[in-house]
Amino acid sequence: MQKIPTLDLKRNYARIRDEIADAVSGVLESQAFILGPEVSAFEEECSAYLDGAQAIGCASGTDALVLAMMSLDIGPGDEVITTPYSFFATVSCITRLGATPVFADVDPETYNIDLQQVLDRLTPKTKVVLPVHLFGQMAPLEAISGELAKRGVSIVEDAAQAFGSWRKIEGAIVRAGTYGALGCYSFFPTKNLGGYGDGGMIATRDGRLAERVRKLRVHGAGKTYFHDEVGLNSRLDSLQAAVLRVKLRHLEEWNEERRIVADRYRLLFAERELLEFVRPPVELEGNYHIYHQYAPRVKDRDALESFLEARGIGCRVYYPLSLHQQRCFSFLGYKPEDCPVSEMLSRETLALPVFPELTAEEQVRIADAIAEFYRSRNT
Ligand SMILES: *Cc1c(COP(=O)(O)O)cnc(C)c1O
Repeated sequence: MQKIPTLDLKRNYARIRDEIADAVSGVLESQAFILGPEVSAFEEECSAYLDGAQAIGCASGTDALVLAMMSLDIGPGDEVITTPYSFFATVSCITRLGATPVFADVDPETYNIDLQQVLDRLTPKTKVVLPVHLFGQMAPLEAISGELAKRGVSIVEDAAQAFGSWRKIEGAIVRAGTYGALGCYSFFPTKNLGGYGDGGMIATRDGRLAERVRKLRVHGAGKTYFHDEVGLNSRLDSLQAAVLRVKLRHLEEWNEERRIVADRYRLLFAERELLEFVRPPVELEGNYHIYHQYAPRVKDRDALESFLEARGIGCRVYYPLSLHQQRCFSFLGYKPEDCPVSEMLSRETLALPVFPELTAEEQVRIADAIAEFYRSRNT
């Protein structure tokens, strides 16, 4: 039986092979590898795509988060409220700068940060709220943005999984990563807009912050060899930018295809009367979810995972250990029960294959295998 991977980048490459070859060869002919015209062009195209926010390329999504926090002067004594149910970099960017992460639990339906808990955890030391638009769905930040502004607290969005996702706020479409003071994206190869190596980007509508980030990514130098402050070496390289320019042109279509995959899963689960065992992800009213991951909450998660793997169906657990329980953050003193929803999700969610090229036949096979698993358990 043919294997079904969780993500098959080779199928995606096959769709754009010629365009990529041209783009890469253009960079090779130019021999301009660091920043340069491809990066500027990509930044301009992203800026247009992000409705005019300035876009600044950097070396990774992790660096985008660090640069964003540095541009806000986050450091020792500052508190940053964030989610325990995310990738590690969401929190390491805080501790790396000597600031203190404060965890708010997440919503059991959308898996995004619980906004009431964010408000409950505000203190005079809170400088930033760092929500993650998890699995490609925006958190409804308009519910708290007024209160945060009143207190002088900035929003930095971790939009690493959400480039192209949006939410309707007061009748207008707002792209993930353009709502807060700064938004951070990752172009890690598995992301919806993925390069052929590491890459990242920061978006901001604040000209002063944009200038600061531009400087911070080149060792804090406003002018080469003249350093106003200590920054990072964190640039998007031209080969990645050339690849990403090609992929950006197709992104809307690919995100639409992911949404079709998600719709079809729901239908297939309903037809097989699986909805009491498999709870599909919830898309909040007004949201355009781009399904970076399709991760339902499932009964007997670990057994289902082994069952599917044995049948050649890829699936993965995001995330098996909440960030407030990571050994490197034990000094913060959190107990598992401090974020019970995150703990529950780490036991119950299972990410199924989702990518634009996944076929209907493959999805039927996946749904049939899941149905077989629960039938065998119940009889
Ligand atoms: C991928 C990811 C990052 C980090 O991006 P890299 O490009 O791998 O450094 C940060 N936050 C979230 C939520 C991510 O999914």
